[in-house]
Amino acid sequence: MAYDDDNVFARILRGEIPCKKVYEDEQVLAFHDINPQAPTHVLVVPKGKYVSMDDFTAKASDAEIAGLFRAIGRIARDFGAEKTGYRILANSGAHAHQEVAHLHVHIFAGRPLGPMLVRR
Ligand code: AMP
Repeated sequence: MAYDDDNVFARILRGEIPCKKVYEDEQVLAFHDINPQAPTHVLVVPKGKYVSMDDFTAKASDAEIAGLFRAIGRIARDFGAEKTGYRILANSGAHAHQEVAHLHVHIFAGRPLGPMLVRR
């Protein structure tokens, strides 16, 4: 899938629409999810134009990949989430119900998060 420059996270990265920023560095921007599913629900977005985890792991530089995962750990610690535990999640593609086609990693914390997936 080609990258769409008008996706909502591209517009947030360009400053065209606001976000509740929690962290930013050379590689990533992180902000609160607009519809939180847990007391802490942060989205960590690489600044590069990557549609999904598949696209990112195929094309991103080692520095971008390290930067994303370093940032995830740092943000989780900033929220104290490592003390009681947290979950990271990156939906990629249709079966995962990815809604925004710019890679983003969710960080959920602040309550027991239940089973990993709904059982069918
Ligand atoms: P996903 O289903 O993994 O693609 O998740 C997309 C997430 O983006 C959802 O949790 C939405 O609530 C969140 N979201 C959509 N628009 C915004 C926005 N403008 N600011 C913050 N989060 C957003």
